[in-house]
Amino acid sequence: MSTQRKPALTFLGAAGTVTGSKFLLETDERRLLVDCGLYQGERQWRRRNWDAPPVEPSSIDAVVLTHAHLDHCGYLPALVREGFSGPVHVTAATAELAAIILRDSAHLQEEDAENARRFGWSKHAAPRPLYTSADAERAIGLLQPCLPARVLELDGMTLSFLHAGHILGSCSLHLRGDDWSLLFSGDLGRPAHPILRDRERPLAARTVVIESTYGDRAHPDVDPDHTVMADAIRRTVRRGGSVVIPAFAVDRTEVVLLALAELVARDAIPDVPVWVDSPMALATLAVYRDQAHADEVDAHALDALASMRQLRAAHSAEESMRLNNPGRPCIIVSASGMATGGRVVHHLRHLLPQARNTVLLTGYQAVGTRGRDLVEGVREVKIAGRYVPVRAEVVQLEDFSVHADADELVGWLGELPEPPQTVHVVHGEPEASRALADRIRRELDCAVSVPRYLERVLLD
Ligand SMILES: [Zn+2]
Repeated sequence: MSTQRKPALTFLGAAGTVTGSKFLLETDERRLLVDCGLYQGERQWRRRNWDAPPVEPSSIDAVVLTHAHLDHCGYLPALVREGFSGPVHVTAATAELAAIILRDSAHLQEEDAENARRFGWSKHAAPRPLYTSADAERAIGLLQPCLPARVLELDGMTLSFLHAGHILGSCSLHLRGDDWSLLFSGDLGRPAHPILRDRERPLAARTVVIESTYGDRAHPDVDPDHTVMADAIRRTVRRGGSVVIPAFAVDRTEVVLLALAELVARDAIPDVPVWVDSPMALATLAVYRDQAHADEVDAHALDALASMRQLRAAHSAEESMRLNNPGRPCIIVSASGMATGGRVVHHLRHLLPQARNTVLLTGYQAVGTRGRDLVEGVREVKIAGRYVPVRAEVVQLEDFSVHADADELVGWLGELPEPPQTVHVVHGEPEASRALADRIRRELDCAVSVPRYLERVLLD
């Protein structure tokens, strides 16, 4: 008779919100943390980043990351500082991108703490960063790229990475033991990505954990000609303004640049300078172009990017500042994507007060971010302790999502070789998660839950 207990799964993040992904899998042999994300967005969630870790970090044997986005890997330096020292299993591209993202995150944390100290924004006398660059370097040192086969044998379980088509290196994770199986969707891309290879079919699993960022929405039909974007850029240039596009440095920048390259090639927009103003985006672009990941990207898309004559790189802070008084219209693609930090914030501070300029928002804007406020039409945004009037045009572009919508999420579940027994819906605002759960319950014959923070379930 087996004395083995059933594995347990605990939801340590992305429960009730879209950020902070962390899931603890405990078997008799080991404790594995799937994703180690930072909470972003509203303060009530961000404060959780500062709480003591809900599980003793030194008791975790290993971490596995689905992809390099901050809300999936950004807590890693804090976990390492608090005592985690095991391997972090990732794909080769995720290892490179996570290094870029964690260094940037630590830098921003340090900068925020320093600014808070200098300008007295903080309630604390000596504000500390959540983690330092040294913590990030230690975390980066633990990243362990898996073999090209993307299958790992850990004690008592087999772990497979399946391309998810969300950003370069992104994967769904399939875990299997003797008498249990578990599939994490990770963040799922749309069925076709403009630059990445299509996502892989999921493997059969009795328990599935699925994201629900767009669980209650259908993306509008893709606008292959990017007409909304083209119209907004033409209008702005005609009135002598500049266009600022807050874009996630990783993947979104590549996808936006590809769209701009296509518009210029078709003469659909004037051939004005296009500045990539984010050291992180420039570093990421180099990873996308690296031959080492050629099997994951579309060569034609990269050629189109390479052919952009007006593409400029703003490396230094001085170059970045100069773009606020460009002399003639230009397009600035800058991070962060939800305008919560990074260089795009100073561009917004300078460009928002003038009606001739335009802010083009691309994709999902989480509640509590400046991006979301702009989408919702606020008249002022708070930047660096001051309110800035919003007179510039604000346009939300719907065709840049790298998240599957409700139909596509349910479609992905339908691709499972056999229906799962249980589906846990995570990584969504509560309404989105509930809507997706209802729909899965109706369309698939399985048990569905929307787990609460710290809820623990047993696996079959
Ligand atoms: Zn993601």
